[in-house]
Formats: sequence, structure tokens, C-alpha cells
Amino acid sequence: MKKLLLASNNPDKATEVRELLADLSIELTTLNDHPSYPPTVEDAETLEGNALKKAMEAYQRTGIPSIGDDTGLEVHYLNDQPGVFSSRFAGPNASYADNCAKLLRLLRGVPPRRRAAQFRCVIAFVQDEHTHHCSEGICRGVILESRRGDGGFGYDPVFLPDGHAMTFAEMDLKLKNTLSHRARAIMALKEHLRSQGW
Ligand code: IMP
Repeated sequence: MKKLLLASNNPDKATEVRELLADLSIELTTLNDHPSYPPTVEDAETLEGNALKKAMEAYQRTGIPSIGDDTGLEVHYLNDQPGVFSSRFAGPNASYADNCAKLLRLLRGVPPRRRAAQFRCVIAFVQDEHTHHCSEGICRGVILESRRGDGGFGYDPVFLPDGHAMTFAEMDLKLKNTLSHRARAIMALKEHLRSQGW
């Protein structure tokens, strides 16, 4: 069975990726299986750059083909900000609630038709020093005027995906995982892995 390392300590991401790759014959490990692994500094200017940096460092440190991901919320009214700065939008140690509050403040009074946004997730796959590939998944929607729902994480309570009446934070995780940016990026990655004989 081929080994693949997910360059993340996040157990929720690991569960999601494991479930979506279940029909490929892959043994998926995470950074939790490498306890002394130092965190990757996410200082690239793009989602692609950070995803690739995470995957390349993981490959170089372990010798195992690796995947790294990075996600950003792109709000059209804000010229696609916060984008690559999504986790630090309200400051270096901002909480999810701080980031949502800043977003709602910046969009106060903006009418619904101008509140379009999208989550964009990039997953980089590094097979060896010279072979890598990026897959992308996008989920479009709008930013609400106030928070709705207690589930999920990050910007989920303020994001209403197109074609749905519930925010990501009001949805069952199983439903979110059928339409989310991350699920779509993983499906694209899977197509690539299949084409490479995985
Ligand atoms: P990362 O890919 O985990 O580094 O994501 C960066 C930031 O984007 C996170 O801190 C969250 O604020 C936000 N984010 C990523 N994925 C999601 C999601 O599925 N829902 C809501 N927010 C998300």
C-alpha cells in the first residue's frame, strides 16, 4: 500500500481527507505521527505558495510523498481579501470570532447583491523533489449581515453557500463535506492521483 503524508495536525482535516480518499489504496498519516515535527511558517504570498511549502517541507523531512493545503476566503467587495490572510485577518492572534466580526464590520451597509464571496482551497501534492501538482476547489456564496449557527469553524457562521438556505455553521458536517471548497479540491487531487497510477 502506498504511503501519503498529510502535512497537518488538524484531526478534522485528517478525517475529511481520509474519508474522501478511502477508495484509493493509500495509507494516510499526518504530522501527529511525527511528534517532533516543527510547524511550517506560512509566509508565502499565495494559497498555492503556502500549500506547496507545507507539502515540500513534509516530503523533505520524511521522504514520504506529501500533501499540504491552504484555504482563503475571497470577498469580492474587499478586492478578494482576506484571501491568504484569512486566519490573521483581525491580527496575528485573532480568534475565529474576531475575524468574523471584522468582516461583518467592513461589510456593514453593503447590500446583499454586493456581498458575494468564495472559499478557495488549494491542495499541493509533492511526490518527490521534482514532481508536484496543485488542485483547487472553490465554493461560492455570500457573506450574511450577522452570524448564524454554532457548528463548523472559521468563517462558517457568516458564509451562506449558493443554492442553500443554511450557513456552513448550521449544516451537518456531512452536507458541508459534499459541497465545500476542501472536498472539491480533494476530489480534484484524487483524479490526479488516479492518473498517476495511485
Ligand atoms: P487554513 O487552510 O486552515 O490555513 O485556513 C485559513 C483560514 O481560513 C482558517 O483560519 C479559517 O479562518 C478559514 N477557513 C478555512 N477553511 C474554512 C472552512 O471550511 N470554513 C470556514 N473558514 C475556513
